[in-house]
Amino acid sequence: MLTKAKIQEALGEIENASGKGLLIQSNGLRNIQILGNEVVVDVICDSPVLHQKKKFEVSILQAIHAKVDVKLQVKINLIIESPEKPVKDQIKGKPIPGVQHVIAVASGKGGVGKSTVTANMAVTLSKMGFQVGILDADIYGPSMPLMMDLVSDRPGGIEVDGVRKMEPVESYGVKVMSIGFFAGTDQAVVWRGPMATKALNQMISETFWGDLDFLLIDLPPGTGDIHLSMVQALPITGAVVVSTPQPIALADARKGVGMFQMEAINVPVLGIIENMSYFTPDELPENKYYLFGKEGAQDLANEIDVPFLGELPIIQSIREASDVGHPAALQLEGEVPLAFEKITQNIMIALANRVENLPPSEAVRITTMAGCQTSKREV
Ligand code: ADP
Repeated sequence: MLTKAKIQEALGEIENASGKGLLIQSNGLRNIQILGNEVVVDVICDSPVLHQKKKFEVSILQAIHAKVDVKLQVKINLIIESPEKPVKDQIKGKPIPGVQHVIAVASGKGGVGKSTVTANMAVTLSKMGFQVGILDADIYGPSMPLMMDLVSDRPGGIEVDGVRKMEPVESYGVKVMSIGFFAGTDQAVVWRGPMATKALNQMISETFWGDLDFLLIDLPPGTGDIHLSMVQALPITGAVVVSTPQPIALADARKGVGMFQMEAINVPVLGIIENMSYFTPDELPENKYYLFGKEGAQDLANEIDVPFLGELPIIQSIREASDVGHPAALQLEGEVPLAFEKITQNIMIALANRVENLPPSEAVRITTMAGCQTSKREV
């Protein structure tokens, strides 16, 4: 199967256009996209000299044809700049003091279970011994107060270095800040554009999280201005996309992944989670009914070459637990906590793999996470 890794491997011995050093080692290979039979590579070209540019392009084309597939259509985008320039920091946004990793949970379509996954992932990480926070940025339907049993709670105030800040509310060991604490669901729904962005940015800059291993962001569904401003305001380590296997949800999930991978955004996609994969009635425990289609999100992950992080069946207790504010992953035994543990572990693996593609300074931060992971509990 055609993968980005194969293309990257094929370009392993390509020299920079100037002839100085190898392209890969100078971090000159910036992006690979695979669109059916077409491969698009974005590469840094460190020479403006025409014949060097031409030779460079030909060498890339020949390497892909020789080492991967001669029938591939190859498009090469040359970005003219010096490869010696410091690598642009992949993590944008201002770091939040004390917060190690920010993970965005996104979905293309609403109602696919993004918030359910966020709440359950948070309590699973907390059970594993991590310090976890949730920032509920879903202005169209902030559900964390309900899902985490915090409907009648409000953030407190605290003075940090002489500045008044807000303190998240804690539930099941998870610190929660939600746009729903400040506006009723009805009100939040009508917020648009600049107003919502302003409210979210204020919530981000004025919250005092203390020390956290993971801050999970429950993003609004879809792709839009809110997402762009979140990416600018927060140092997002990686994004997780939730989808059902239904074609209409998958089409939107694909757009969601595409948004994070856009050059201007460039947030690594840690993978796709398939929710509502199938239903098994109690009276027929051997049967699986694929109500929304079979393995659609898995197929999408394979096709666009991002990790598949796992599947969650439709289970009545997941919905009931959400409704009473006690995430189902807190159940002491059974398939639900196990499924969430598996998905959470896969996210850890995806995070650790991200190290390979990072500039050294960021790799150090991830290594720290891996260290804390093993010291707290083996996952
Ligand atoms: P989103 O955040 O994507 O809008 P929600 O997390 O609010 O979606 O989920 C929508 C509804 O589906 C909620 O009522 C939730 O309890 C229910 N739900 C989500 N995942 C499952 C599941 N795996 N099994 C049963 N119900 C689920």
